[in-house]
Amino acid sequence: MSINIADQERIKRITLAIRQEHERLRSTYSWLKFQDFIGFGLLIVSTSMILCFSWLWHIEIISTWFLVIWVAFWTSILHELEHDLIHGLYFKSSKFMTNVMFGVVWIFRPLTLNPWIRKYWHHHHHQHSGKVIDIEERGVTNGERWSLKRLIMTPDLLLSFLFRCVRIFTEIKTEFKSGNLSEKDMKMLRKTLLFGFMPIGIPAYLIFYIWIFLGVSSWFGIEIMEATLLAKWSSFTDPLIYVFILPNYIRQFCLHFITSNMHFYGDVEDGDIFRQTQVLNAWWTWPFQLFCFNFGSTHSIHHFVVNEPFYTRQMSVKRAHLIFREEGVKFNDTASFNRANSYE
Ligand SMILES: [Zn+2]
Ligand SMILES: [Zn+2]
Repeated sequence: MSINIADQERIKRITLAIRQEHERLRSTYSWLKFQDFIGFGLLIVSTSMILCFSWLWHIEIISTWFLVIWVAFWTSILHELEHDLIHGLYFKSSKFMTNVMFGVVWIFRPLTLNPWIRKYWHHHHHQHSGKVIDIEERGVTNGERWSLKRLIMTPDLLLSFLFRCVRIFTEIKTEFKSGNLSEKDMKMLRKTLLFGFMPIGIPAYLIFYIWIFLGVSSWFGIEIMEATLLAKWSSFTDPLIYVFILPNYIRQFCLHFITSNMHFYGDVEDGDIFRQTQVLNAWWTWPFQLFCFNFGSTHSIHHFVVNEPFYTRQMSVKRAHLIFREEGVKFNDTASFNRANSYE
């Protein structure tokens, strides 16, 4: 099946209108041209905010919960920077700067996939959004029926894989046999499995599971570790948990919940941008949007026009939503939650 003529026309009109809006913004706000500087500046500001407030927490000036929420917010900006870097929007001609920025955003978001590997799957996502082989979105539960299992898998990439590994391997085999996955895709899948969460992700997830286990045990009054050993262990893991791991777990829950429900799955043809996404910005999604830089409002814009950084996309929201409404892009189709994210 190919994209129907009506959708092709809609895609052309929407893309043109968004491009024009971005051009208007660029001619109105001349500072937008300092893209490399803005990207690097945001990296410095976000990481400084995280480090300074971690220090304030360490000297007991701010509470643990404030720190966790604060870091979760700033890591959402680091996530947007990573996504922009994947699309070559900062330091396009400098591999060194791209690698430095990739490294930093990975360290501060230790539960995520290696960004050099994610780059491959993210471009794959743009090509095959809504398909079985959309590894990136499938990985964050897009297309699953809603259940307690999906809720548990939503923030957790490791459990999301472990809970479904048998089915995933079967699906991959079938898709490879039918020619939907190439040799190169298979090579990348093996690489993802071996190195995607090493050396950062898997140790971080394990520390998090141990923290949960110890927390639940002490809740029930069961002593797992001897007190002095527990104190030693906690003095090592507490900063990792409260600065790096827990904020990212919360942020990932918010981002993955929004993204896995705003992308449609199953009945979308390759390249039919019109049906790939919906705008998910209902009032109740705001606590989630806060930790994913308004992803539910802006990611659809990105599917139509990929080469604008996240802040320009945010600035074009009003005009883009107007044209979306005129052309019939779906808004807040929460009924799709009951259809395992299908379009119809
Ligand atoms: Zn993208
Ligand atoms: Zn997408």
